[in-house]
Amino acid sequence: MPSSKPLLFGAIEAGGTKFVCAIGTGPDDVRVLERFPTTTPEETLGRVIDFFQRHPEPIAALGVGSFGPVDPNPSSPTYGYITTTPKPGWAHIDVAGTLHRALNVPVAFDTDVNAAALGEHRWGAGRGLHTFVYLTIGTGIGGGIIAGGRRHHGHQHPEIGHLLVPRLPGDDRPGCCPFHGDCLEGLASGPALQARWGRPAPELPPDHVAWEQEARYLAMGLVNLILTLSPQRLILGGGVMQQMHLFPRIRQYVVHYLNGYVSLPNPDTLIVPPMLGDRAGVLGALALAEERFIKGY
Ligand code: ADP
Ligand code: ZN
Repeated sequence: MPSSKPLLFGAIEAGGTKFVCAIGTGPDDVRVLERFPTTTPEETLGRVIDFFQRHPEPIAALGVGSFGPVDPNPSSPTYGYITTTPKPGWAHIDVAGTLHRALNVPVAFDTDVNAAALGEHRWGAGRGLHTFVYLTIGTGIGGGIIAGGRRHHGHQHPEIGHLLVPRLPGDDRPGCCPFHGDCLEGLASGPALQARWGRPAPELPPDHVAWEQEARYLAMGLVNLILTLSPQRLILGGGVMQQMHLFPRIRQYVVHYLNGYVSLPNPDTLIVPPMLGDRAGVLGALALAEERFIKGY
């Protein structure tokens, strides 16, 4: 019997501060991985292209999970572009097209958080589910949605971090979203915690009142997602969620705010950490490439 080699896929986690590139077949088989700082599009994409051209074995497809906003709709003329980002130099950049022209492989493109959601669907905490949300609570708040087994887009793509949530009674600290002030990201991201409480989030002790408020704001965001999507699971990652004590508090407030109105899965399995950890982004991009190759989208 001739032994068939597994197909190799390429992955790019395109972040605002760094690009992570990898080649492999899955979480247990990442053959090479390199990081490049995000500078100009020309320089950064040049280094990414060079990374894939240096690797001797061919890849069957490339997946890109990108910071945004992006155009993730394959039927759009600007599919694969970073669109209106405030990041200098990166607005209206054709990321997927540039990579496709240079590397001559099929390129699948989506938001960083939709890619991470797909990675969790394929190999992590979303396995076997048809509808769930992956949220990252870090420098910003962002979310990717798998609905009916597919990555969800819409007119453009969801921006879950900017859900509007009511200010808690007695909270007179400003929200810091430059667009909305008091949105979820403005009240509950890592930089919001620092701006609102005067020290970096990792330095706030677990019994600090900041975490009680944080759990309540995040729970409000999750309640809105539960009421909109009826997800089977909510996967919460990002630097802030390294504060594991937040999980039981968030579950408790979600139950409290819903007040028995909808039937919920067990809160312990509804609200969980990611299984792919800080590799969710790059493995998600790998899953995008695999999906593109196998399913054609
Ligand atoms: P990014 O969102 O830039 O990809 P992270 O998810 O690591 O990166 O988020 C960084 C943010 O998370 C920072 O605001 C940082 O203060 C916060 N953060 C990182 N680690 C912790 C921690 N252990 N506890 C609380 N907040 C943290
Ligand atoms: Zn906002």
